[in-house]
Amino acid sequence: MDLDLGSDVSGGSETEAMPWIAWFCSLGGHQYFTEVAEEFIEDEFNLTGLNSIVPFYKEALEMILDLEPEEETTKVPDVSIVEASAEQLYGLIHQRFIVTRQGLQQMADKYTAGHFGTCPRNFCQSTNVVPCGRYDLPGVETVKVYCPNCQDIYSPMSSRYHNIDGAYFGTTFAHMLFHIYPELVPKIPNKLYTPTIYGFKISEYSRCGPRMRWLRLKVDPGTLEASGRLIYDQQDSDDEQEDDDDDEEDEEEQT
Ligand SMILES: [Zn+2]
Repeated sequence: MDLDLGSDVSGGSETEAMPWIAWFCSLGGHQYFTEVAEEFIEDEFNLTGLNSIVPFYKEALEMILDLEPEEETTKVPDVSIVEASAEQLYGLIHQRFIVTRQGLQQMADKYTAGHFGTCPRNFCQSTNVVPCGRYDLPGVETVKVYCPNCQDIYSPMSSRYHNIDGAYFGTTFAHMLFHIYPELVPKIPNKLYTPTIYGFKISEYSRCGPRMRWLRLKVDPGTLEASGRLIYDQQDSDDEQEDDDDDEEDEEEQT
């Protein structure tokens, strides 16, 4: 691999010397992507089925691998079409690569370095997020980010990522990452927001009341009783079971 990376991308002559993959990943708004190892792409087994999804597959593959076209093709009307195909093909290869051992390691490094941004939820305390898709096929939905603390997904905060296809990260990667690297799951106290009006908790029966609060309650697997009954962890368990008294404590803390 060329180690020309830190340099400015805009230099015209430099972009030609830079391998396509490194160039693509260095573009603005492509910070979510990691560089797929060329060996991975060169193994045809890893590309199975992609030729039926990506138009101008062969030309796109040659572009990604910086290969000279085998023959002067006349069927490609415009280079920009091949560029679009190359981006899509790279994205779909990327989806497969980031669930391999090497890909997971590279993405874990990017996660730790904070390349994917942070969770917008206040009580997640700016925990790092990872990109994910809700679909594995391209063209359905753009990329989302997954927070391992609140276990929810969000649109990326920066609009520069809003055009990137979610399929390039896929539905499996984010969860495989925390499965393989459980130490990356943040240990943040489980705090829940309590809406109040003039300091009074809003009734659960109110339309704007905290009806969905239970969704945020986390269960510590270690506290599963033999009977299978769930015991909610920390203070929030008290909140839930003996509603009123303990919630007053919460409010006192805040005032
Ligand atoms: Zn979160």
